[in-house]
This record gives sequence, structure tokens and C-alpha cells, in this order.
Amino acid sequence: MSKNYNIGIIKGDGIGPEIVDEAIKVLDKVGRVFDINFEYKRMLLGGEAIDATGVPFPTETKEGAMLCDAVLFGAIGGPKWDTLERHLRPESGLLGLRAHMGTFANLRPAMVYDELVDASTLKTEVLKGVDIMVVRELTGGIYFGQPREQLEDKAYNTMIYTKEEVERIAHVAFEIAMKRDKRVCSVDKANVLEVSQFWRDIVIDIAKEYPEVELSHMYVDNAAMQLIRNPKQFDVILTGNIFGDILSDAASMLSGSIGLLPSASIGAKVGLFEPIHGSAPDIAGQNIANPLATISSASMMLRYSLGESKAADMIDAAIKTSLKEGYRTGDISAYGAKEVCSCSRMGDVIASYIKD
Ligand code: NAD
Repeated sequence: MSKNYNIGIIKGDGIGPEIVDEAIKVLDKVGRVFDINFEYKRMLLGGEAIDATGVPFPTETKEGAMLCDAVLFGAIGGPKWDTLERHLRPESGLLGLRAHMGTFANLRPAMVYDELVDASTLKTEVLKGVDIMVVRELTGGIYFGQPREQLEDKAYNTMIYTKEEVERIAHVAFEIAMKRDKRVCSVDKANVLEVSQFWRDIVIDIAKEYPEVELSHMYVDNAAMQLIRNPKQFDVILTGNIFGDILSDAASMLSGSIGLLPSASIGAKVGLFEPIHGSAPDIAGQNIANPLATISSASMMLRYSLGESKAADMIDAAIKTSLKEGYRTGDISAYGAKEVCSCSRMGDVIASYIKD
């Protein structure tokens, strides 16, 4: 009997519609192979929502997202909406969606495809084989802590974590490590911050429930250095909101192009899956964007929200094969291209490698 999933689709602005269409193409193909039926529910967010409804996060999207099994999102924003007041801009729509969905765990893989190892600014021997998963706490820490205020002669924010917040994100990291190389490096600033010592103590406690997983700790300044010096030492990096924000961006550059990397925000009833890049207004509407980050996000959706890991494996393998065979979009065309592909052609190629 075929399985049915309701997938919320938010194409967004700029290259959003182009890259999401390719992910849908690949999902449909993998659905045919695995007898999965995806029911897509289109929702508006960001600039496209402002144009259609006057607000960046319409009520229909707010309500609709929570009725889906998962939401796949492209990107929002662009110069057209940059002069609007902050709370009416596309970005506030995305922040609103993330907060509304309550996804507290942000997963950002940073992997280096062998074929694209030259695309990074780092040396091949440092990069070959890098496969890191950054697990970032997303709804707590200094970005949300109270009190916060900007006064005339001072300003302050508060870094706060509760026991429950640390426990649940630690569980996510250990569970993921169990399916990978069984190593978690918890990154904090416990030498200076009480909140980090608290974080560390709780992570040590949770680790007792996962005796097979090796736990290490690293201060965030050292972690930033180690990511560049020897990234292969990491399997899963577990960290708080602000440290994860910075480290996951640094880690993403190991792969060479922003167009390659997906992300997943999970931990709530409905997960949100999106590429790490923005709406790339400079190349929008030209059918030249790299759809791989969004297609990989669809793969993460299958793996982490829908439990369809075989289908996810097939998509990941199809991406690797297409790169191995020399198919490249413009952003990575300098590295071993046999054919420079448009966005839609790249989607076709990946779909063609998905078969029984
Ligand atoms: P960006 O990620 O959109 O683009 C940065 C550079 O990377 C550009 O040169 C772009 O052409 C290139 N690029 C990005 N994605 C690519 C892809 N898939 N294939 C090929 N090249 C790609 O960042 P930006 O220029 O700082 O921001 C543009 C807009 O996107 C802004 O309005 C910003 O607010 C918004 N933004 C949205 C998100 C999101 O929706 N999650 C994230 C970041 C920025």
C-alpha cells in the first residue's frame, strides 16, 4: 500500500521557486520508486506573501504549516522589499515561521564531495572525507534570553539555558551520532560562562544514556580554529544558538559553494527543511541556480521527519553520482565539469539517477 505525506511547499522569492521545483521533481521520482505519494500544499512567505497579502507571514501559512507532515522551503527576501519597516520585511516572516513551528534543533551538515574538493579555499588533504553534522540549539540562548535592552549608555542581552532545553538538544545530537560515527563534540565557553558550565554538566549527564557514543568538549574559540585546521576530527558538533550560528557558517565554507548545503530544523511536530543560502536575487529568474542544497534538504526531510531513510539515501547517492559524472551548475563549473547545467537540467540529471 502506498504511503501518503502532506508536504508544505514554500517557494519564496528570488531563486526560491526555481530550486524548489527541482526538489519536487526529485521527490516525485523517488516517490514513484518507493511507492510514496507526496501531497503538496503551497504556502506563501516573505516577499511573495507581502505582494499577495500585505504581510510576510500570512495566517494561512501559519495554520497550514502545522497541518503538514513537513515543510520544504526555498528562500525569501530581495531588494524590492528592503525598504519596508523591519516587522513587515520578508525576513521577519521567516523568523516568525521558525518561532511558530517551535523547531528547537537545527541540523547543518557540512560535507565535502570528493569531486568538488578543489572548490574550497582549504587544501585537499585537509578536506577530503570531511563529513560533519552541526547540531545547533535554535530557540534558546542569547538570541531569546530576557532581559534584553538597548539604552543610551549601555545595552545588554542575556544568555540563558534551562535544563530541559539542554537535555532535549543533547538527546538530538546523541541520537544522530548513533546513526553516524558515534562521536559528539560539545562546544561551549565553560571556562568563562556559568551558562556554558551548566550546559556541559547536563551534556555529560545525558551522555551516560549513550555509552556507545564518545563525548568530548571544546571551547568555542578553539572549535573555530580546529574546524579550519583539522575538520576531519569532528563527527557531530553539539552547541548552543549563537556559537552554532557562527560555527555552522564557518563549517559550510569547507564544502566550497553555498549552493550545496541543506539544513533541517526539527524537534517539533513539523520539521522545516531549507537550503542554507538566501534568495540570490542576482541570479534569480535565469535558471542557473544550483538546486543541490534544496534537493539535499528534501533528502533530510525524508530522513529526519518522515523516516524514509532508504529514499533519502537514494537521493544522496544520485547527487554524488551526478557530481562524479561531471554535471555542474555555474557556481561549481570550474571544478571538473563535463557539462555545465542549468538549474532544471541539474534536477533532471539527479532524477534520472533515481531508479529501482
Ligand atoms: P544569498 O545566499 O542569497 O547569495 C549570496 C551569493 O551566493 C550570491 O552571489 C548568490 O548568487 C550566490 N548563491 C546563493 N545561492 C546560490 C545557489 N543556489 N546557486 C548558485 N549561487 C548561489 O545571500 P545574500 O545575497 O546575502 O542575500 C540575498 C537575499 O536573501 C537577501 O534579501 C537576504 O535577506 C535573503 N536571505 C534569505 C535567507 C533565507 O531565506 N533563509 C538566508 C540568507 C539571506
